[in-house]
Amino acid sequence: MADDTTKTPVCVLGLGLIGGSVLRAAAAAGREVFGYNRSADGVNAAVADGFDATTDLQGALTRAAAAGALIVIAVPLPPLPTLLAEIARLAPQCPLTDATSVKGPVLEMVVAAGLADRFVGGHPMAGTVHSGWPAGDATLFVGAPWVISVDDQVDPAVFATVLDLILDCGSVAVPARSDEHDAAAAVISHLPHLLAEALAVTAADVPLAFGLAAGSFRDGTRVAGTAPELVLAMCEGNWLRLLPALDRAIELLSGARDALSASDSIAELVNQGHAARTRYENFPRSEIIAVVVGADGWRAELAAAGRAGGVIRAALPTLDSSR
Ligand code: NAD
Repeated sequence: MADDTTKTPVCVLGLGLIGGSVLRAAAAAGREVFGYNRSADGVNAAVADGFDATTDLQGALTRAAAAGALIVIAVPLPPLPTLLAEIARLAPQCPLTDATSVKGPVLEMVVAAGLADRFVGGHPMAGTVHSGWPAGDATLFVGAPWVISVDDQVDPAVFATVLDLILDCGSVAVPARSDEHDAAAAVISHLPHLLAEALAVTAADVPLAFGLAAGSFRDGTRVAGTAPELVLAMCEGNWLRLLPALDRAIELLSGARDALSASDSIAELVNQGHAARTRYENFPRSEIIAVVVGADGWRAELAAAGRAGGVIRAALPTLDSSR
């Protein structure tokens, strides 16, 4: 497909499951897109599939600066400070986003690197337990929520640029502040990882368990199949928000344990759990259309709309275009 010259080019750093999927999806949307990956294996595989990729970080960033590309960081949390320092050195004017599954710690690193005014954080809520370039898929994000940050420092033009990429990937954007994202991610993503690991370990100690295991066990332990280093990066990177979530789950389980050992009913937890799950299944999704990006209070308005279940399915009006 020919490049769409009206679209911002995209430079993806990290061509694993997520970055490789962004590269494929952005290319399928007609964008000029190129990527950097640390390992030659990933680069060779991407090039063999017809994509423009390199192991030369400095070369990729110099090219991004010349093209005014949107830089998408798709590596785990630990190497981020090193990458950000290189971006600050070689491409400080480029709009910048990321796919990291924690947002508060990333924002702190971005601020420390002096890149806050060019940065709008992101987190696609899609994935598989596989990793690396071969695991990527141009359709991975289709229909999935993709968090876009609306922190105080977010610039309207960079926000619109990042939103455009999210929509090109086929996702719906969910606006959220980084701190609220991390509290939510702790309960819907990071706590499930710990519960899945604990469940798998508990069953592994019981001789006949794996022989009998079916749907409940498979569903409850699915995410324990994720590469351990990714789980560690996610959970340890969000420890501050994960602790209260874990405390709450332990409190609920301890209550159930106490009830069982006293021959009391566990109905309270089971009924509350069933009601909460029913609320989740009926959670309303509405489309955010009226917020004008750049107008007074636009970030707070979007954060409130995201909290209430709102999603962005198409480009929002901007202050300039609405005049
Ligand atoms: P992955 O293992 O498939 O890919 C990771 C990429 O990071 C690879 O290209 C690897 O070469 C690169 N990398 C690792 N260490 C590096 C270093 N020190 N320097 C430079 N590059 C390095 O992982 P992924 O699933 O694509 O995850 C990438 C990011 O996306 C992570 O921050 C993860 O939290 C986030 N994320 C993952 C999922 C998921 O379900 N897997 C979902 C949403 C967001």
